[in-house]
Amino acid sequence: MSQTNSLFSPGSLLISPEEETGALDRFAGTIRFPTISVSEDSSLDCFHNMRTYSMGVWNSVFDTLEMELHSGASILLKWTGADPSLEPVMLAAHQDVVPVGDDKDWLRDPFGGDISDGRIWGRGTIDYKCGYSGMLEAVSLLISRGFTPGRTVFLAFGHDEEIGGLLGAKAITESLLSRNIACSSVLDEGGYIYSEANGDVVAEVAIAEKGYASFRLSSEAVQGHSSVPPDKTAIGMLARGIVALEDGSMPAAEVPSEISSSKWLLSTIAPTVFSSGCKENVLPAKAEAVINTRPAPGSSVDTVHNYIKNVVEPFGISVELIDNPSVSEPSTISSTRTMDFKALRTSILNSVVPGTGFRCGVFPAATDSRRYSLVANNTYRFLPVHLDHRGIGALHSVDESISIPDYLRCVRFYAEYITRVGSKG
Ligand SMILES: [Zn+2]
Repeated sequence: MSQTNSLFSPGSLLISPEEETGALDRFAGTIRFPTISVSEDSSLDCFHNMRTYSMGVWNSVFDTLEMELHSGASILLKWTGADPSLEPVMLAAHQDVVPVGDDKDWLRDPFGGDISDGRIWGRGTIDYKCGYSGMLEAVSLLISRGFTPGRTVFLAFGHDEEIGGLLGAKAITESLLSRNIACSSVLDEGGYIYSEANGDVVAEVAIAEKGYASFRLSSEAVQGHSSVPPDKTAIGMLARGIVALEDGSMPAAEVPSEISSSKWLLSTIAPTVFSSGCKENVLPAKAEAVINTRPAPGSSVDTVHNYIKNVVEPFGISVELIDNPSVSEPSTISSTRTMDFKALRTSILNSVVPGTGFRCGVFPAATDSRRYSLVANNTYRFLPVHLDHRGIGALHSVDESISIPDYLRCVRFYAEYITRVGSKG
């Protein structure tokens, strides 16, 4: 086996025009399954159908790798390496997508898998079926070229990332933990190729991600007749506190030297819900608001909680953490000195357009990798997709689409990365 690999040089994979056309068709096929995750007890039929489809079009992958199902529809594929003494490595992508909103707002059928104007259109094309399909396509190509990994490679495809990953990624992680399996790293979504305002194009690997916590703010006053208002009303008190939060800024945490991007380094605070009052002539006894926060690496849920308290308590507002499974601390910072990171960096630089910059940064939202990080020493977040001027705002938007070169770049990138990171090193 190792003899085959010694003849296989990373980055040398040539993909024929027929293979490219086939890859685009197979990818478009996955877009036609509306694998929307809404709640934890939603039907899994659509996921089962997409898996059956995938087993048909990437049959060599499912014949060669061992498949496990977790929580009904999350998939863990294991490509056993030639040397079991080496630490395995993981690549992750989620199968589920967010709802489309009103499909009349879309120029094309969000689940049509339309290939036109140089793009593949539909919900999930960027987030994150280009990863799911791209990884399966890459492994299929590598199998066809006779590649076998030196290290074991896991592909983890959760089915509920968009609603928190408490079924899929969590179950996969717990299963690996129970078998004492730890990976050297996991590669997930979260870094992209960005166009900067000054015209620079930069590939950014997110080596950390922010945490997540929401707080309930409440103010109380005496209920009464609105014809004789007191100096302070519940709504006025709460509003003042929120304005003070918006006007202030949290003290910046120290930025670790590995982070070379200046974006998303600060914790953020966003008021997302405000409720009070029941009738136009009644002064309400209570006003409540929800503040959603994203603690930055170096900060913590506690630090943000204390900051909010300090700002709003002088206005007579009380603050309470909304304790639910979505609460997470900011991630640790992953190392850029590992063999896996070097393999990733080389694979990125070989797949992007010459002249593209490279840097390490922070991802402002939460991904499934916060679950997988319990079984991986390092977490790298990157998808070789060139986002438009909207940046990550493009991900859950109408008319989600990916350019044909970007999708083919995903396939080549995953093939090269698996070849490099999966080799004996
Ligand atoms: Zn995603």
